[in-house]
Amino acid sequence: MHSITTTTIDGVTIHAINCGLVKVKRSHRNPSVGAPAILLDPFWTEWLPIWVWVIKHPEGILVVDTGENHHVTDSDYFSCGGANGWVSRKILRFAIQEQFEIGFQLKTLGIDPADVRWVVLTHLHIDHTDGLKYFPRAEIMVAKAELDQPYGAVPCTFPTWFNPRKITFTQPDKHFGKAYPLTSDGQISIVPTIGHAYGHQSVLFRGKTVDVLFAGDTTFTEQQLRQRQVAGICTDKGSARRTIDTIRAYCQYRPTIYLPTHDSQSALRLKQQQVV
Ligand SMILES: [Zn+2]
Repeated sequence: MHSITTTTIDGVTIHAINCGLVKVKRSHRNPSVGAPAILLDPFWTEWLPIWVWVIKHPEGILVVDTGENHHVTDSDYFSCGGANGWVSRKILRFAIQEQFEIGFQLKTLGIDPADVRWVVLTHLHIDHTDGLKYFPRAEIMVAKAELDQPYGAVPCTFPTWFNPRKITFTQPDKHFGKAYPLTSDGQISIVPTIGHAYGHQSVLFRGKTVDVLFAGDTTFTEQQLRQRQVAGICTDKGSARRTIDTIRAYCQYRPTIYLPTHDSQSALRLKQQQVV
């Protein structure tokens, strides 16, 4: 699997960067069965990518999620994390090399991480936050609901300087209910997509002919969206399904490329501008 794929839509360059691989229990990805069953499940998925998205907008460079870092496989990495650390260690497996960390890969693209203006975290799970160390100077954005109740997160792994902007969605949006406009030209906004976590959010790029939804962990794959399938881990099935239905309705309204973090086909669909 290539680690970087580049696409341009309406003059905006978007890089899909694979920052390493993760395995989850099959019952974690498959339709919801509840946390105890996931812990006991002996079966693992194949290796899944951890995509980070880099969007070079005229108003600034935006990074969506930050991927993993190679220390995650150290034996004591989760020891600070109490119950969530213990569970994360039990239900996740990683293959991460240092050169695949987001900071290294940005440099191969000629981008200094210090030049990144915004980092939007879809939620606070470790495989989305563990590259934060490269962005002490960026404006980091997390939904207020996620910071108030970080479901399954391991906050002791966050950098000591971590003090993100708490996003509340104040702008009415006829599809997502409400939104947070990021760029002043209206092209990029943040929308609430709860269910996988209490404050999960996604980034919506509105193009002239095609939109892109950087969807974090709303589902594992586009197929799960098409099949209206709630994955094994969520705060509650109702919220997760309502979010899936909202995204499906949006995709009916606008041609939309749907990009979950752990879908092996996400970068290819972006490259081929393949809509849902
Ligand atoms: Zn997650």
